[in-house]
Amino acid sequence: MMLRTCRALCSQAGPSTGGWQALNFDGGAFHLKGTGELTRALLVLRLCAWPPLVTHGLALQAWSQRLLGSRLSGALLRASVYGQFVAGETAEEVRGCVRQLQALGLRPLLAVPTEEEPDSAVKTGEAWYEGNLSAMLRCVDLSRGLLETPGPTGNILMQLKVTALTSTRLCKELTTWIRRPGASLELSPERLAEAMDSGQDLQVSCLNAEQNRHLQASLGRLHRVVQHARAQHVRLLVDAEYTFLNPALSLLVDALAVRWNSPGEGGPWVWNTYQAYLQDTHERLRLAAEAADRAGLAFGVKLVRGAYLDKERATARHQGTEDPTQPDYEATNRSYSRCLELMLTHVSHRGPMCHLMVASHNEESVRQATKRMWELGIPLDGPVCFGQLLGMCDHVSLALGQAGYAVYKSIPYGSLEEVIPYLIRRAQENRSVLHGARREQKLLSQELRRRLLGRGLRVPH
Ligand SMILES: Cc1cc2nc3c(=O)[nH]c(=O)nc-3n(C[C@H](O)[C@H](O)[C@H](O)COP(=O)(O)OP(=O)(O)OC[C@H]3O[C@@H](n4cnc5c(N)ncnc54)[C@H](O)[C@@H]3O)c2cc1C
Repeated sequence: MMLRTCRALCSQAGPSTGGWQALNFDGGAFHLKGTGELTRALLVLRLCAWPPLVTHGLALQAWSQRLLGSRLSGALLRASVYGQFVAGETAEEVRGCVRQLQALGLRPLLAVPTEEEPDSAVKTGEAWYEGNLSAMLRCVDLSRGLLETPGPTGNILMQLKVTALTSTRLCKELTTWIRRPGASLELSPERLAEAMDSGQDLQVSCLNAEQNRHLQASLGRLHRVVQHARAQHVRLLVDAEYTFLNPALSLLVDALAVRWNSPGEGGPWVWNTYQAYLQDTHERLRLAAEAADRAGLAFGVKLVRGAYLDKERATARHQGTEDPTQPDYEATNRSYSRCLELMLTHVSHRGPMCHLMVASHNEESVRQATKRMWELGIPLDGPVCFGQLLGMCDHVSLALGQAGYAVYKSIPYGSLEEVIPYLIRRAQENRSVLHGARREQKLLSQELRRRLLGRGLRVPH
């Protein structure tokens, strides 16, 4: 019933054809959601803004399992945190969740939640990475199958975490070498791309025999995922992680881009993620965009503020090195705004050869993007799209979707045992976001109060 109502309401809202209109993020779009969903969202966001719950999440989960038994504790989690932020466990549950999103004008961006544990022999062995490869390949198929009728501009996107397919130890080692002067030739993207394509043995002198074998196996896994994704028309958005890994991750993305973002492939099929909270990001983004343009490669970027602020700063303090992050929140905002401007200008020059996901819950950033898209003549549902996390900032996602923009919700899925540790770690990394979800809580309470007091229907915007 709710789905039908939503469809009817969505069909009234087509892409705006006139001038640019500032979007209203006042919770008006909550009229599309059921009271149960809004209540759960409010309760879960309030709980997650309570620091002890996030800090001791794993211990609390273990404690509740012991006290209540795994069935009851599982049921509680499913009705709360898991239900709010996770699509489900089976392909059918994921499809159900995505159908609801699609009815609201939103699209799926599936993410396989994997957590490497560098000290665990099981979670760093070759078999573990091969298992993750299978999960990624299934995720490609699921992503493809989710859109019954992908229109010409309805791109299918999926998140890819490279450290699910290769070890963080190897990425750390490679990063150390990439940063040394003179390493560039041996570790060039072209050389890695060649090894990926031909499957021939690659020997890198800075790595020992075991590391070389792992690099070769990792390149093979990456190649298989992208090959399969390309065949299924699924674009892969590679996550950015810590600065002690990112140069290696970018090298691997560049190698994949040489092969899969080449002219005539219809790409970009492999996108990189840029974190505006790092001081050098604008410059790196400018150089990468110009290099792709010169090489005639398609270029895809997910632009985020960055999730690992506390750890980056702690690592810099611990190692006595310079803090790589922006000095404060305002500086990160300015950096995001400059990166956004840079990318939108590139999109307006290169058209479909350059794609951007504005992956942010920040209302100002989203507003800036929509305004500049209009000024630069970038179509609403073209090479620029928006991304938010499932269960977060629906007032922003729904308003964008209703106005005709392409909006993706990043969706983790999997069993409770797999996903809860992942969610707790993400929550710990995104404390400031959960804390900042106060405005969303306020809008949710307003809407619920309005419904309880029976103040009639809102007029859709
Ligand atoms: C679809 C999607 C994909 C994502 N993929 C990635 C990814 O691959 N890698 C990744 O790292 N993150 C990723 N994120 C998370 C993202 O980086 C942010 O943590 C999150 O979106 C919050 O930023 P915001 O722009 O939404 O909003 P805001 O709430 O406005 O900004 C919060 C962010 O501002 C920054 N910040 C806060 N306080 C300070 C301070 N004192 N000094 C400097 N900066 C500060 C931090 O980056 C913080 O996360 C993704 C998010 C989405 C929605």
